[in-house]
Amino acid sequence: MEPLGWLDYPPELSDAEEQYLLSNLKDWSIAHGLAVRPAPSFIQPSQDPSGVLASTAPVTLFPSLFPRSCFEEGLAIQKAYNELYSAIARDEKWLQSIVEELIDIDDFVAKLWQTHLAVRKQGGYVQDISLGLFRSDYMVHKDPAQSDPTPGLKQVEFNTIASSFGGLSSQVSALHKYLLAIDAYPSSTASLIKAGSLRQSLSASLLAEGLATAHKAYGNSKTSRPLCVLFIVQDAERNVFDQRHLEYALLEGNGVRTFRLPFGETMSHTKLDADQTLVYTPPSSPSSSFEVTTVYFRAGYAPDDYPNEEDWAARLHLEKSKAIKCPSILTQLAGCKKVQQVLATPHSPHLQRFLPDSEVAARVLATFAPIYPLDDSEAGKEARKLATDPTSASRYVLKPQREGGGNNIYRKAIPPFLQKLPETHWPAYILMEMIEPPPLSNAILRNGELQRGGVICELGVYGVCLWRDGSSADAKGEVMENFEAGYLLRTKGDQSEEGGVAAGFGAVDSCCLV
Ligand code: ADP
Ligand code: MG
Ligand code: MG
Repeated sequence: MEPLGWLDYPPELSDAEEQYLLSNLKDWSIAHGLAVRPAPSFIQPSQDPSGVLASTAPVTLFPSLFPRSCFEEGLAIQKAYNELYSAIARDEKWLQSIVEELIDIDDFVAKLWQTHLAVRKQGGYVQDISLGLFRSDYMVHKDPAQSDPTPGLKQVEFNTIASSFGGLSSQVSALHKYLLAIDAYPSSTASLIKAGSLRQSLSASLLAEGLATAHKAYGNSKTSRPLCVLFIVQDAERNVFDQRHLEYALLEGNGVRTFRLPFGETMSHTKLDADQTLVYTPPSSPSSSFEVTTVYFRAGYAPDDYPNEEDWAARLHLEKSKAIKCPSILTQLAGCKKVQQVLATPHSPHLQRFLPDSEVAARVLATFAPIYPLDDSEAGKEARKLATDPTSASRYVLKPQREGGGNNIYRKAIPPFLQKLPETHWPAYILMEMIEPPPLSNAILRNGELQRGGVICELGVYGVCLWRDGSSADAKGEVMENFEAGYLLRTKGDQSEEGGVAAGFGAVDSCCLV
């Protein structure tokens, strides 16, 4: 039989083959926590009043084909990206220069910055160690201008807060290996899907190891209370099992106790000792209390997480504490799309400032796609022309300083959007060239429905970085731990501009390297 090529992948399945694959996929997913809480549109809350139901997470039936060289490069440069973004987070002056351009036109960035200043004013930071659980996201890009274009990786964005799916990613790569092992993939795919080409993501255990590293670096209890890591979460989190995998790996692999605290309940269940030790009292056991070594934010990245002024007071309270933050406010701000745009400015000195090794810097630079400001600079004026002309705008995406998906404006929607926005607010956005990955196909199972067709894949590479801020004598600080922490592949239908799995556009996937 002819080996399959890229274009006839994935293979057609007979009805019986599809039944076999799907029934095994569904059972394995639930049995292994490759699951989400059901969407209200899928099961109405009244049908599940006690909240016991879960459903399979959106997944691809087949691992998507991914160029091996791109995959290896993405993993190889993650430590450099960790170094870069931790260095930015340690450089308050530099970050301030970025934030100043946004502060009058972006309320959320302004609030984060003011909270940072409030910590400084109210006695300053008492913890000089910070943790980053990062995720650098990429798409494969082929430059059509080159006659024999070899695929390269272009960065979509760099996440410094609440980088999600590390838990489910480990499970989906294990699922695809299982489907191969039980012969759910037809023999015609054997030349492509084989054990050696499937990549197991170790993200769940490696991210847990990152949290454990911070927990350990915190040191012994100052209060003789037991120690814990505190997950700050959103109230109605559907993607809870993704987080649970990290919690279980922390307990089982590292012996570290965790608690989940909805961000809005921070002030009711935590307090600061005189020396700013963060003490957590579980509502289930009001007479006991734990000393928090590490605050892991899976909430707090979006304005919706702060409906009231008290929520900003809660963030300040956590930032002032002695617990290690993942991330700190400065680390969160380092993840602004504006920072990515400034780093990508051609011939700018910024990258070299943070990555002095020029060979390392060159490899990172090669992953930057063109990004422009929309300010009064020369580049900004050029970009304003591109963004307001319907023909040229169709090659771009417009991004505000926001996280979590659903915030961008794409292609032809950009000119009318800008027309409605006062020009003084345009610099709050950056304009980025769309990355156009080569065409691929797959099948996605989402809410029980099978969708087949053209897809777009986005590779995320996780990184763990633990560092100590510099004192005034040693402004550079010190990186204490730095490692690559597995990968995520997210796949969406090629008709959708957005890619968020949780936001309802995509599926978790794994790489079949070719
Ligand atoms: P967020 O922080 O909200 O996740 P992203 O920058 O990742 O914002 O954009 C959301 C989604 O939009 C991405 O997952 C991707 O699918 C799409 N996207 C963003 N930038 C680009 C780009 N330059 N080219 C192609 N798609 C993009
Ligand atoms: Mg993203
Ligand atoms: Mg993001």
